[in-house]
Amino acid sequence: MRRWCSKWNCWDWLDPVLTLYLPSRLPNVGTTIFTVMSRLAAEHGAINLSQGFPDFSPSPLLLDRVTHHMAAGANQYPPMAGVVSLRQAIAEKVARLYLAAYDPESEVTVTAGATQAIYTAIAACVRPGDEVIVFAPVYDSYVPGIELNGGHAVFAHLRFPEFKPDWDEVRALITPRTRMIIINSPHNPSGSVWSADDMAMLEAMVRNTKIVVVSDEVYEHVVFDQKDAGDGKVRHESATRYPGLRERSFVVSSFGKTYHVTGWKVAYCLAPRSLMNEFRKAHQFIVFTVHHPAQLALADFMREHPEFADNLASFYQAKRDFFCQQLEGSRFVLLPCAGTYFQLATYAAISDEPDTRFVQRLTTEHGVAAIPVSVFNPDGEDQRVIRFCFAKNEATLAAAGERLRAL
Ligand code: PMP
Ligand code: GLN
Repeated sequence: MRRWCSKWNCWDWLDPVLTLYLPSRLPNVGTTIFTVMSRLAAEHGAINLSQGFPDFSPSPLLLDRVTHHMAAGANQYPPMAGVVSLRQAIAEKVARLYLAAYDPESEVTVTAGATQAIYTAIAACVRPGDEVIVFAPVYDSYVPGIELNGGHAVFAHLRFPEFKPDWDEVRALITPRTRMIIINSPHNPSGSVWSADDMAMLEAMVRNTKIVVVSDEVYEHVVFDQKDAGDGKVRHESATRYPGLRERSFVVSSFGKTYHVTGWKVAYCLAPRSLMNEFRKAHQFIVFTVHHPAQLALADFMREHPEFADNLASFYQAKRDFFCQQLEGSRFVLLPCAGTYFQLATYAAISDEPDTRFVQRLTTEHGVAAIPVSVFNPDGEDQRVIRFCFAKNEATLAAAGERLRAL
């Protein structure tokens, strides 16, 4: 039973009556909170600290390289796995930072954002009935990706207020059906960072299993207070550093976060050859390849300015500290933020509304948009915590601070 839609000149499957014939594959999914809050911010002219993206420009040198490569003719399909110079630059960076060797030819693939890399890794590995362990609060794309491929998400908890993994809980969740574990450090939305001990626990737990790991490391260059550690313990603990993880992991990072170009949607995935082989089988039919001139430009920029990524942590740490100063004297209570460009805050002293309601009023009545953290919890658990993005110019953060202090 279909109905011809003369407006769009196609068969209309989405008529509410006809959904009986096309049951949704994602019945519990609506529009993402990032889209909802950015739209609300735009409608009300609010300062948008909700969706995570910078309000400042990327380096002009990087932009010059894109126009250069477009003018020079890089306007047709690049190789399926990504341009060679970019894959080489990625492999060199990973070797320099994490002492891990990946073959650019067979173990590095450029993707259309981290979202596509994560989805593709799931699609390549997860079969109907498989279980995938994720950590809640959980980044919003993981569970729909698992469910679209017939898997079941199983939730471990990063408990408020520290958001650290509970390894006894994780151990108890592993079953013979566990196909995959998805981890994310530095963690969105909490800003917590996994320690070397956490990684060693995971490494020990998956030893002698068939579990594959997806390690979402899109904020790999945004880890704070590294100088305070002294013992070298506060640093980004990439899965690539741990042989027992490296051998079974898809490691994902995003140029969007590192080079202030979230709208370019260029990222990459690393994996050992056999896993990458399966990944590419899916990748070639999900997206085939990624924007050609942007890849060449990123390769040039990485080569010419390796210091850019190295300086990112101090760049964002200054923004975190500036934003926190702005909130001094407000009734928000700030949670520790060890990485990412997100700051969590509780608002219990201001209101006892649910966080989803509070962020709406914050946007429409007080002119600052934020993200409610409960939407990242599978059961909607609400600790009255909201997330602010501080990847903004100081003027934006100062203007937001003034409004937030007035509450
Ligand atoms: N993972 C996490 C934890 C993220 O925060 C984001 C986006 N901010 C992504 C994945 C997706 O990255 P991309 O925009 O490169 O798809
Ligand atoms: N990852 C970004 C955030 O956490 C949003 C990306 C998106 O809108 N899909 O805010």
